[in-house]
Amino acid sequence: MVDWKKLVKKIPNKVQLSKKGEYEIVWVDEFKQHDTIGETRFDRKQIAIKKNLSPKLTTITDLHEVIHGLSGEHDAQLTENQVLALEKGLYYLLKDGNLFKKD
Ligand SMILES: [Zn+2]
Repeated sequence: MVDWKKLVKKIPNKVQLSKKGEYEIVWVDEFKQHDTIGETRFDRKQIAIKKNLSPKLTTITDLHEVIHGLSGEHDAQLTENQVLALEKGLYYLLKDGNLFKKD
């Protein structure tokens, strides 16, 4: 299982994705497009996440945007559909004791 409440509290204020790619994580009340819940801003080096989503959706959105950020920083040119496909595997990476052993 994944303790989403615990994880969401550990989302930092910034995340480094490449040597010069440090992204500030910012919290947004509402995006211009109302169904948007996250956005990677390469020009400002920001990952923006909508406030007040569930802990699970917040965490997954953060990681979804991190994948976009990695793709941009490392020129992988992933499409939205490819990012969404990878997103489905994130749960398994986050599962306690899976990718890294338990403490
Ligand atoms: Zn996306």
